[in-house]
Amino acid sequence: MCGIIGIENNNKAAIFVSAGLLTLQHRGEESAGITVSNQNTHTMKTFTAMGLVSRIFSEEINCKKLPGQSAIGHVRYTTSAKSSLINAQPFQINCIHGDLAVAHNGNITNFHQLKNKLLKKGAIFTHTSDTEILLHLIAMTKGNNLKTIIAKAVRKLIGAFSIVILKNNTLIGVKDIHGFRPLVLGKVGKSFILSSETSAVEVLGGKYIRDISPGEIIIIRNGTIIDSFIYGKVDKQTSCIFEQVYFSRPDSIMFGQTIKEARVMMGIYLAKQMKNIKADIVMPVPDTGYFAALGFSRESHILFENGFIRNHYVGRSFIKPSQNLRTITAKLKLRPIKEVVNGKNIILIDDSIVRGTTAKNLISILKKAGAHNIHFALSCPPILSSCYYGIDTPQKKYLIAAMHSIEDIKQYLNVDTLNFLGLENLINACSLNVDNKKIFCDACFTGIYPTKINKCTIS
Ligand code: AMP
Repeated sequence: MCGIIGIENNNKAAIFVSAGLLTLQHRGEESAGITVSNQNTHTMKTFTAMGLVSRIFSEEINCKKLPGQSAIGHVRYTTSAKSSLINAQPFQINCIHGDLAVAHNGNITNFHQLKNKLLKKGAIFTHTSDTEILLHLIAMTKGNNLKTIIAKAVRKLIGAFSIVILKNNTLIGVKDIHGFRPLVLGKVGKSFILSSETSAVEVLGGKYIRDISPGEIIIIRNGTIIDSFIYGKVDKQTSCIFEQVYFSRPDSIMFGQTIKEARVMMGIYLAKQMKNIKADIVMPVPDTGYFAALGFSRESHILFENGFIRNHYVGRSFIKPSQNLRTITAKLKLRPIKEVVNGKNIILIDDSIVRGTTAKNLISILKKAGAHNIHFALSCPPILSSCYYGIDTPQKKYLIAAMHSIEDIKQYLNVDTLNFLGLENLINACSLNVDNKKIFCDACFTGIYPTKINKCTIS
């Protein structure tokens, strides 16, 4: 998964983008980068590095080295390619159309097919990520008009892509025809912003205007929307529901409600599903389980308690790419508060179980701290299938719910009951303010993929 942001018509473009990237840091902790375009020198410059935004970009150090009036930025954690500097975005190229830079969130599912075709034609690839294909397609598309070049290029892509592109002082946003990944339009002063999430727009002092629509290309220059059009046939919107479950920030707005509201509703529905279960306290797994636990407590009138202390200096456990590191960071990350959990019957709420590593570890920590009964509840259904659209779910054989029965998982985790939010309830929680409830991709829960998935992408 990744976070992307762009701003134009702003003398502090790099500083704004770095602050935006800090706000989007939860979408990827492995690498970060900024491309800035300077109209005074007619140059474009990209700076990328591995690690956290705060370490890479600070006003004094790197942002001053990136003067310019428009910029795009990217935070990344690996889904489809190697976690290394070579794949850190934005990617900047010089091609027949001049200098341009691209930052992408999502997974292009026909990447291997397209790459093989281009390799046969003699194309050279220097990155291993799917995003590079877009650069080739743009470079190889003939024409003088940026609008038609980009539209022609992206029409060849299948899968999930929300993209920001920078060329001179022009900022371009693209969303795939299914609208898998979020991308919103905002404005601060005389500058337009494109961002993965509304929270970044607001942190920059800006106002959220609207979502970029599925299949939309928007072209912005000098504080004006030059063009906005639908580049391809929008079949059916299938926006990733896991953004609400896990990925996005609670203060971001999606489908007319905050992610916080959606998660509170997930908790309310969970409580309705589990109304026969009695407990002393409802406890979240920090941080993602917090609002679902709050909703659960409101609905059930069971006391909300915080029995875990999170070490905020340890990154999101899942974001470390190897299983080894994941287990260690999970232990570092959370400690129980003994007097809260000792002797208690607990309803413990997390957002999801993927491999089961986190849950196994947390439950054993709680038991050691004296917890009596543990009723474990997840604010989404069992994850049964891998995601090919940008969420880092492992191969099916590592998905605990795909390989084992609920009863087996319950015993493995050593909990008294194991409860998952039903899909219909999840969809309702995420679409309180929209009439059409059928706008979500739920392939991770159902195995029904909205696009064709190539054999080489399926593992
Ligand atoms: P696991 O230990 O593999 O079962 O991971 C489950 C934990 O990872 C849950 O506590 C989630 O909050 C978190 N999580 C779920 N999906 C993802 C994802 N795609 N990327 C990062 N973290 C995730």
